[in-house]
Amino acid sequence: MEFVDLKSQYQALKKDVDRRVLAVLEHGQYINGPEVDDLEIALADFVGVKHCIAVSSGTDALLIAMMALGVGPGDEVITTPFSFISTAETIALLGAKPVFVDIDERTCNIDPSLIAPVITSRTKVIMPVSLYGQCADMDTINLIAEEHKISVVEDAAQSFGATYKGKRSGGLSLIGCTSFFPSKPLGCYGDGGACFTNDAKLAEQMKSISLHGQTERYHHTTLGVNGRLDTIQAAVLLAKLKKFSEEIECRIRCGERYSKLIHSSAESDITTPFIDPMNTSVFAQYTIQVDKRDSLRDFMSSQDIPTAVHYPMPLHKQPVFAEIVSRGLSLPISERVASRVLSLPVHAYLSESEQDSVIHAVNNFYN
Ligand SMILES: *Cc1c(COP(=O)(O)O)cnc(C)c1O
Repeated sequence: MEFVDLKSQYQALKKDVDRRVLAVLEHGQYINGPEVDDLEIALADFVGVKHCIAVSSGTDALLIAMMALGVGPGDEVITTPFSFISTAETIALLGAKPVFVDIDERTCNIDPSLIAPVITSRTKVIMPVSLYGQCADMDTINLIAEEHKISVVEDAAQSFGATYKGKRSGGLSLIGCTSFFPSKPLGCYGDGGACFTNDAKLAEQMKSISLHGQTERYHHTTLGVNGRLDTIQAAVLLAKLKKFSEEIECRIRCGERYSKLIHSSAESDITTPFIDPMNTSVFAQYTIQVDKRDSLRDFMSSQDIPTAVHYPMPLHKQPVFAEIVSRGLSLPISERVASRVLSLPVHAYLSESEQDSVIHAVNNFYN
């Protein structure tokens, strides 16, 4: 069993992927080819926003979004400590300070009630992460941001395809950023990402920044980066996008089946993921919380079932941020959750019998 089975997916989509990739090899426009424009239109339409800028990775999407918003030295960006490193790494790379606030234990997303108290005159952006495939409480966060005239950038790297109150992740705030890393819900065959917005001026700025700050050929008006998405990756994504809605349904079916059949008893104290009724999750990860996490993980491994821990160390505890984070900063929920989370295999090609093996292994651990 694979944690994420990209080979089965390729076999299922092979005809379309091969056709589209071969077309790029034939026409030869490997950078900024027509597939990139087609993809941007298709993705904007899928998310329900006016503008999409395809970029080189999810990390670069966050970086480019914040560069367009003018985030720099002296600024503060409020975010969650319970995420992948990119979320805070990009803030720090721009010379700004990540200000971490704790999470909601049930969803593992930023707790909106903790945001307002840490807003200062230097706060420029709030960056919620829609973790594990479920959106943060974006309306509540947008409202706080509006009151204080600051911007919201959603890190939607794990939630592409998810909905919040019926609207797609990525289109829920001023800018949304996603990743097409191979194992993400919509992945390409290398690195890729995208920025989404309804703001035409920001869209233009983000596009220009992704092209070395160029406005016309060899004319550079701002500092930018080499942040383009390869044409071949755009071709892969165009092929995969056709099947994506079906794949989301498979992921949801798998997640719901796990939640129904994984038993929590007095001994087991397993908490299955809480999906807020206003959300649909794409289950980028299916992550349970459990006290005996490490021994359950060993047991699963002895049954040949791969698992993962997302994430074992909250960002405010990462050595790289030791000088940025106020000494002794304690975010107890993130710290507790980091010691209890365990992600189980989930992907669109996981058969029911494989799902059953996962379910039985978890349930058997406590018998
Ligand atoms: C994967 C991920 C990123 C970074 O995406 P890359 O495409 O790998 O650069 C950023 N934030 C979160 C929450 C992620 O899961």
